[in-house]
Amino acid sequence: MIKKVRSHITQNESLLFEKSSPGKTGYQLPALDVPAVDSQAALGAHNVRNEIEHFPEVSEVEVIRHFTRLSTWNYAIDLGLYPLGSCTMKYNPRVNELVARLEGLAWAHPYQPESLSQGSMEIMARLESALLEITGMDAITLQPAAGAHGELTGILLVRALLEKRGNPRKKILIPDSAHGTNPATAAIAGYAVENLRSNARGTVDLAELERMVDKDVAALMVTNPNTIGVFEEKITRAAEILHKKGALLYMDGANMNALVGVARPGDFGVDVMHLNLHKTFSTPHGGGGPGGGPVAVKKILEPFLPVPRLKRTRNKWTFDYKRPRSIGRVRAFYGNFGVIVRALAYILAHGGDGLRNATVDAVMNANYLRKKLEPYYDLPYTAPNMHEVVFSDDRQAKLGVRTGDIAKRLIDYGFHPYTVSFPLIVHGALMIEPTETESKDELDLFADAMISIAQEVETDPEMVRKAPHNTRTSRVDEVTAARRPVLRWTPEQPRTKTAD
Ligand SMILES: *Cc1c(COP(=O)(O)O)cnc(C)c1O
Repeated sequence: MIKKVRSHITQNESLLFEKSSPGKTGYQLPALDVPAVDSQAALGAHNVRNEIEHFPEVSEVEVIRHFTRLSTWNYAIDLGLYPLGSCTMKYNPRVNELVARLEGLAWAHPYQPESLSQGSMEIMARLESALLEITGMDAITLQPAAGAHGELTGILLVRALLEKRGNPRKKILIPDSAHGTNPATAAIAGYAVENLRSNARGTVDLAELERMVDKDVAALMVTNPNTIGVFEEKITRAAEILHKKGALLYMDGANMNALVGVARPGDFGVDVMHLNLHKTFSTPHGGGGPGGGPVAVKKILEPFLPVPRLKRTRNKWTFDYKRPRSIGRVRAFYGNFGVIVRALAYILAHGGDGLRNATVDAVMNANYLRKKLEPYYDLPYTAPNMHEVVFSDDRQAKLGVRTGDIAKRLIDYGFHPYTVSFPLIVHGALMIEPTETESKDELDLFADAMISIAQEVETDPEMVRKAPHNTRTSRVDEVTAARRPVLRWTPEQPRTKTAD
């Protein structure tokens, strides 16, 4: 009989604090060869600590092994399909990373004089014009650091324009399928949020819109294609309804992965929109790293864009700070420059045809999964879908298995779960976005796993409800974890528990 042992290396890694032993260090300094300074006298006794309590004392190799082991517990797009709907977890081409690490770019300092920053400024200018070509808009700022930040910038631009026209207005309309950042943005920008009911297709209900738009409405914020992966076919009509009443159309462009090279928001009535460089244009994300949320606008909003603006004078790039109507800065310096470099590298490496192909592949992949999984999972909105597909757990829920259970069982099959329970208009949502990254083989593996789980739900729902079974820890108590998180380690605490 083979005795089952648990590998202490990958399965039972302790906290760094628990590895600590007094006096261990990860460095060695040469002997002091200058006169010693009394730190207490120099800085004042109250500014100097004798020790930092509970600071882990470990060797260099212990630190390296600790974090390297932890990294093997992670799931990444470099390991396999990462179907997190709405998030566009596409592969991050290595050429982007190579370019972003070029010495002259990686070490460029924001306080460098403009005369020494012409190359970096040229990169920003080229990305601006590429994104304007892609979106069909008139002007753009690269400053916002993420999608939500772009939304806030965009709505502040709307407010600035309406204020100049004499009345900032009171309300923003937001469809019930919207991403949570949309209502948060409207509220932070000082607007009341009014919920716009979707129609049976899951898109904006034009009659309802017509009824709701009045002199108090500043804008409609709409995601297109929307969060159930459906294109707003009547969007130009929605824009007309808004414009007739002096309101604006904001497009959440997080789903541009389904439009690039095929359709341009500027051509279908959008006044202001943001892009997520870290989604559509392939900067690594998901770990909370830097992102990019450029905001593109029509001419009427250009005077209000954040300062500084790039300007070409006498064959040189300069930054223009003298823009009296600008809403001001929304971020230090010029945006996340490394992300800007990656986005331009991605765009240039693909070229126009390549970008269009990526879009077509993303849409085809989502539809391939839709067709393969439709016989097994309920699809409440059956409109032709674009780059993602949203099933409901209705069929499995009858056997007591919910979307969260299916997601956890997916981990046993080696896949990152899809997005669970969002958007809210789909009951028990399973939101799947494969992106263009995946080959047919990888899509088939994923579909097989999903089909196999659907069958397991029929035969052994209890097993699925208790998944995952192959992981280091199984179900955690999510309620306690949220209500009473342990954020600080003290020596009195019991050793971390690991599941058997
Ligand atoms: C991701 C996303 C956002 C927010 O973007 P962040 O970059 O995460 O701030 C907004 N709307 C939609 C539809 C999204 O998918």
